[in-house]
Amino acid sequence: MAAAAQQPITYTLSFPNAVHHEADIKVVFAELPAGLFSVRMARSSPGRYALHEFAKNIYKVKAYNSVGQEITLTRPNPHQWDIPSHDGTVTITYTLFGDRADGTYNGISEEHVHLNMPATLMYGLGLDNRARLVQFNLPAGKNWQIATQLKKETTPNTYTAPHLQYLMDSPVEISDLKFSEWQLPAQNKTIRIALHTQAGDKAFADYTTKAKKVVAEAGAVFGQFPDYDFNSYTFLACYGPQAVGDGMEHRNSTFITSSQPLENNVNTHLSTFSHEYFHSWNVERIRPKSLEPFNYAEANMSGELWFAEGFTNYYGDLVLCRSGVNTVTEYAQNISAELNHVLNSPGHQYFSPVQMSYQAPFVDAAQSIDPVNRVNTYISYYPFGSVIGLALDLTLRTRFKIITLDTYMQAIWRKHGQPEIPYTLTDLENILGSVTRDPEFAQAFFQQHIYGLKLADYKFLLAQAGFLLRPVNPNKASLGLTLLNFRNNAAVIQTGTLVGSPLYQAGLDREDVIQTIAGKKINSYNDLAAALAAHKPGDRVNITYTPRVGASKETIVTLIPDPQLEAVPYETAGLPLTKQMKAFRASWLSSKVKSGRK
Ligand SMILES: [Zn+2]
Ligand SMILES: [Zn+2]
Repeated sequence: MAAAAQQPITYTLSFPNAVHHEADIKVVFAELPAGLFSVRMARSSPGRYALHEFAKNIYKVKAYNSVGQEITLTRPNPHQWDIPSHDGTVTITYTLFGDRADGTYNGISEEHVHLNMPATLMYGLGLDNRARLVQFNLPAGKNWQIATQLKKETTPNTYTAPHLQYLMDSPVEISDLKFSEWQLPAQNKTIRIALHTQAGDKAFADYTTKAKKVVAEAGAVFGQFPDYDFNSYTFLACYGPQAVGDGMEHRNSTFITSSQPLENNVNTHLSTFSHEYFHSWNVERIRPKSLEPFNYAEANMSGELWFAEGFTNYYGDLVLCRSGVNTVTEYAQNISAELNHVLNSPGHQYFSPVQMSYQAPFVDAAQSIDPVNRVNTYISYYPFGSVIGLALDLTLRTRFKIITLDTYMQAIWRKHGQPEIPYTLTDLENILGSVTRDPEFAQAFFQQHIYGLKLADYKFLLAQAGFLLRPVNPNKASLGLTLLNFRNNAAVIQTGTLVGSPLYQAGLDREDVIQTIAGKKINSYNDLAAALAAHKPGDRVNITYTPRVGASKETIVTLIPDPQLEAVPYETAGLPLTKQMKAFRASWLSSKVKSGRK
């Protein structure tokens, strides 16, 4: 809680050199306790799990006392500035550079000011509970407006946040914005889309019509909308060459960005819209204990991302199907892509979904220059968690009939989301036990599929809804899913070969160059396809290759069936769709807004 008597920390942001991607920022810290005062730039940002070292884009840092005299600053570590002594008021000024408008970084240009607060604002140590006031000096001659979840004050272009956590969670989009908004049923809550794009009004109208359906359908999963702070939720959409594709969830808003224009991409952009909006329940209010409070000075590790991100991914797609934005066939294609990735990645033999979630600080927009063995050891908790959501939903529907994943999500919402009590993995398991009234089932499911390495029987589960999981080309011979790069008339193995694949078994690895297969020279993708087409799975063929070091080698590989999978509706596959399957599928994929609303 903010102490009412204390002056808020005041931030003033100006953009006189936006053309070169700079902002001038001034922060006034008043009523400081005597002694050493330290300010920092965040190293991490909520919703992104790697370290981003935001201090790297800050320069010309200066400090002044209450009468405007410059005072001494020292640098104890790369993220921090220390002021050894002061007179109770410290003003810091600095220049910020930002040229990547996405969910994590900043885009400052003549087109817009797009700010993620941890990448933007310095904070003072020990002042987390102080209120904040943020003032924007907008450039003259532009028709710019401000969109943010910060609380709007009566002074123009002025906003407040009750404390540091809310400030950091509140991104801002300033540009020539288009708006659409509507009220949620039976509540005094506004849903708003603030759109920065070069698109025309027709595309925006189409986007808004479909967006309303997505919002309603997401609400129907939980049977209730969150009680948004300050009575509104804002989509901060930035689509066009000024942006980079991303989506980032926040309590009462989301950044949804893409370099692709809105025209002809309405449904693609709604996929991110749907995912991020689901987060306003799952992760923003149904919150893993491991992320509370968010630590801006370190990487934040959570073993729950298979649920927080993965189940959100599952519902992001499901809501698009239920709302009619995507067809059942398109939904089946989404499932196919995810199952293909998860079932064909050796990673599921290395780490459980909980352990995969622990990898986030190494993979979520993290960068390093040394090669890693992730082709073999890693599966993103997004598709991994998503197919676990699919497995749990279909298992519940098969085994417990009227209990579904929606029932489970509603129970988690009531126990943890609505009262905002952070959850643990044990809580998730216990709630599964209580909604099914079968704690043994819940325990087995978690032991096998969440803490363990066991994959669900997707072929059986999908068949209940009349979807056939099958190999796309069962008779096609393959070397496995290893990535080959055809350059300079040679087939270069680009990444490590997949554990168990023919190339791996034969001892080939990264940077080896394949020369011939069964005597045929391989110069291009077409050469490779032709060489494999002359054989069938199980054939043993000669392969010659040049390893990274040394002379050419010759070995034998055993070709396997093309491992690619697809899930197709029974009716498409020419199989009979029974009444029971039809009913199962309808209950799963049909809209819950009309029929199931409480
Ligand atoms: Zn923008
Ligand atoms: Zn997400």
